[in-house]
Order: sequence, then C-alpha cells, then structure tokens
Amino acid sequence: MDVPRGTGTAGDDVYEVIVVRHGTRSTSRSDVFLNYGQYGEPDAAFTVDYYLWILRNSRTTVLIDTGFARGPAEARGRTVLVEPAEAYRRLGVDTTAPHPIVVTHAHYDHIGNVGLFPRSPVVISGAEMDFWTSPMATRTLIAHFAESDEVAELVGVEAEGRLRRFSGSVEVAPGVVVTEVGGHTPGQCMVTVPTTAGVVLLTSDAVHFTEELERDMPFISVTDLPAMYRGLQSVRDLLAAGAVDHILTGHDAGVLDRLEPYSPELAGVAGIIGRLDP
Ligand SMILES: [Zn+2]
Repeated sequence: MDVPRGTGTAGDDVYEVIVVRHGTRSTSRSDVFLNYGQYGEPDAAFTVDYYLWILRNSRTTVLIDTGFARGPAEARGRTVLVEPAEAYRRLGVDTTAPHPIVVTHAHYDHIGNVGLFPRSPVVISGAEMDFWTSPMATRTLIAHFAESDEVAELVGVEAEGRLRRFSGSVEVAPGVVVTEVGGHTPGQCMVTVPTTAGVVLLTSDAVHFTEELERDMPFISVTDLPAMYRGLQSVRDLLAAGAVDHILTGHDAGVLDRLEPYSPELAGVAGIIGRLDP
C-alpha cells in the first residue's frame, strides 16, 4: 500500500504532534492478542494505554480522534487518567473553533468526545460510517466496541453537513494524509504527518502495539483478518522504505516515556514530537 505524501501548495507545512494519554487499563496478553493460545506462550500481565492526538502549527489544528467518554470507559473497566475536555483545555485547544476532526475508526475510545466540537468538520471513511450504521453493528462481538449514541452523534454531524466521507486516502490539511487500511474495522485509517523531526505515522488501531507489528500478532478485535495482516505489512514496508521516521501506535503503554513532555506540568499526560516555536 502506498501512503501518498501531501500535495498541498504550502509544501513546507509541518506540524507538531501532541500525544495525549487519557486512559489506561491492566489486562493480560490473552485478552489483547487474537487466539493467543495458538502461540504456545504463557499468559502474562499487559497494560493498554489510551491516546488521542493533536496536530498543530501556526495556521492549523487537526484533531486525530477524541478519546473516550468517562461513562463508556468506566463501564468497560478502563481508568480515566484525564478527561479529554480537560486535556484540550490545558493544551489550549479551542473547542468552539472549527478544527477538523479525523475519526480513524468509530470505536468508543476514539469518538467519545466529538460532541465537544460543535463546529468541527469530521472526516471518516465512508465504509466505516456505513458499517456502524448497518445492522451488523448490533451483533454482540461488534457492538461491544461502540456506543450507539456516539455513532448517532456522527449521524447527526452528517445531517448538519459537517461529515466528510472518503475512500482510499484524503489530504485533510496541507501534508496531512489519512489512508484507509481496514482490518480492525472496515474503515480503519492511519495518518501521516510532516514534522521538523520527519514524517510521523499515526497508526491508530491499524497497529495497537509495537509487538503486534514486530511479531505479526493481530489484535483480538478484528473485522477482516487478512486486511489486518496486510495493514501490518504495509506499515513494515513503509518503515523499511524509510518513508516514515516515527511511528505512534494506538495503544502501546509507555509511549510518553519516549517523548519530550509537552510541558513540565503535563509530563505523563502529553508528549510532543517536532515542537514548533510559538
Ligand atoms: Zn482503540
């Protein structure tokens, strides 16, 4: 799969990438890797962290997912570390501005706060919207990962004319390219972002964990396993080709340990790649 580079006229656009860790949970390897017993390895404790991402420069702010809402998170046993609304406030993100929101897929932990942004255009794969508004979305093993009222919120966004469906790939801001890979969900997407530190690939849940990528071990929740394997391979190909300088996975623990803190006060909450001068 090719991830096209941006073709915007402002070819020198770069962004800082802010990574917000808003939640966590402690679980086991057999609860995150599909058919774990087939690997013949002992089970062990495993930590899953929950992130949202903000791309920003002096001209543009783009939100990549909006994290989970407290109710659906706690109902599933997740720990809320910071309310996304509070994180946006502390990071100076104006929720009344029409910042575009990229929805990488419609699981509850990625669309929980779309309603905080009443003026934002929302970009999502058409296949993803079609899937979550179809009868299939009500089947038990699929419905577990979504909230019907949050999907209804996306339907409302579309009724207001703020929803932008796409297929394949789309450039949502100069140089910021969203690409469908499927697998985890029918319209699961990844995002590439140019920064002063090189190209950052936000895999979202096309790759939950680095181990998933390095050991070719698919995540437990999947709608199309061959597509998920192809998505993992496409990321490996991008890395091997040198097309990507940094990769941010959807749910690895400890991501912030490897990043510069956004500020001393937000250490452990928000990290940054490619900081730009204010
Ligand atoms: Zn997720």
